[in-house]
Amino acid sequence: MLFFCCKNDTDGRIKTWYLPIFLRFTPFKFSDTSYLLYVSLRVMQGVNKQNIRHLSLAELEDYFVQSGDKKFRAKQVYEWLWQKHAHSFDAMTNLSKEWRTKLSDVFELPALTVEASQYSADGTVKSRFKTVDSHLVEGVLIPTDTRQTACVSSQIGCSLTCKFCATGYMGRKRNLDFDEIYDEVVLINQQAERIYQKKLSNIVFMGMGEPLLNYKNVLKAIERIASPDGLGMSPRRITVSTAGVAKMILQLGDDEVRFKLALSLHAANDTKRHEIMPINDTNNIRSLVEALNYFYRKTGNEITLEYILFKDFNDSPEDAAELVKVFRQIPADLVNIIEYNPIDMASFRKPDEQVTNNFMQYLEKNRVNARLRRSRGKDIDAACGQLANKEGIQQLQ
Ligand code: SF4
Repeated sequence: MLFFCCKNDTDGRIKTWYLPIFLRFTPFKFSDTSYLLYVSLRVMQGVNKQNIRHLSLAELEDYFVQSGDKKFRAKQVYEWLWQKHAHSFDAMTNLSKEWRTKLSDVFELPALTVEASQYSADGTVKSRFKTVDSHLVEGVLIPTDTRQTACVSSQIGCSLTCKFCATGYMGRKRNLDFDEIYDEVVLINQQAERIYQKKLSNIVFMGMGEPLLNYKNVLKAIERIASPDGLGMSPRRITVSTAGVAKMILQLGDDEVRFKLALSLHAANDTKRHEIMPINDTNNIRSLVEALNYFYRKTGNEITLEYILFKDFNDSPEDAAELVKVFRQIPADLVNIIEYNPIDMASFRKPDEQVTNNFMQYLEKNRVNARLRRSRGKDIDAACGQLANKEGIQQLQ
């Protein structure tokens, strides 16, 4: 591996020579150009520091012991990283100046920053976060009387091209690392405390990207969020929403995760679902029903179905009847019927109020626990399916 080679080289020219080998064997796709560029430039500059947040506590302890210090020093640093949210080694004020310099010589501490925020009339706050390699990703704070919910992104863009979703038209740039996802939650929590004097109560992975296609980072981020030496939030207050990757839903069951799962169904037969969600080609409704039943058998965790109503597409009584049939096959607690937010790239519209009411009444009559979710943050393009890093966001930071 190139980084190993670099460690033993002092000559910058040798590092440059190894670059093609790194590019040949890198796990990143060539569409991840700016990330590759960022990594490549750092390699050529001879910068091969490790992200300190990618070390476990045990690894940090090893580092300090091998460097001739005490184990407890690692715990102090770990607290700065995961609980005090330090963004530089200089901020770690209970470490000696010498240790702070030593750490910054060996490690790097990249962090997400808030580039801009927009405030909706209904209290919703959308923020645009910047990664260390200059990508932009969005997250939303959704306040209600009883909750402060963070809607976070798991990828920069998305590869699944759902026809109704602005992110789907961006393509996927790269996955977010677990520490970047963690930073989103920390930054949104800081906004909740600053604006509403309340801590976050819930987290939903419903922002940009398909969480189950960034499985390891999402699970690791949730582990850090739920850990007592992280944010200490209950995993029961976290919901991961998927467009339906059956294989990974089975994996969640095998991993016996403790968070809740939501399936974006949006159409209750394969023909219609394929039309708006190309992933249905390889993950049809039958395979998702089986995977969700397996997930429930293994975890007992709450499952929600998400269903956006589209005018003259999936809003008829026949569509409602098909939705009831699918609901009966899944141990789902709830169906969220979601009001659609039009985007420029697609011609979908939301149904008239009467049609929506009829749809809800049909579900109620058939004893489906369904709730109508009105959109939040529509005036700032922060509502479901609208996250896409539009230019012109109001600079408020
Ligand atoms: S709805 Fe979700 S899975 Fe589909 S394109 Fe948008 S972000 Fe990706």
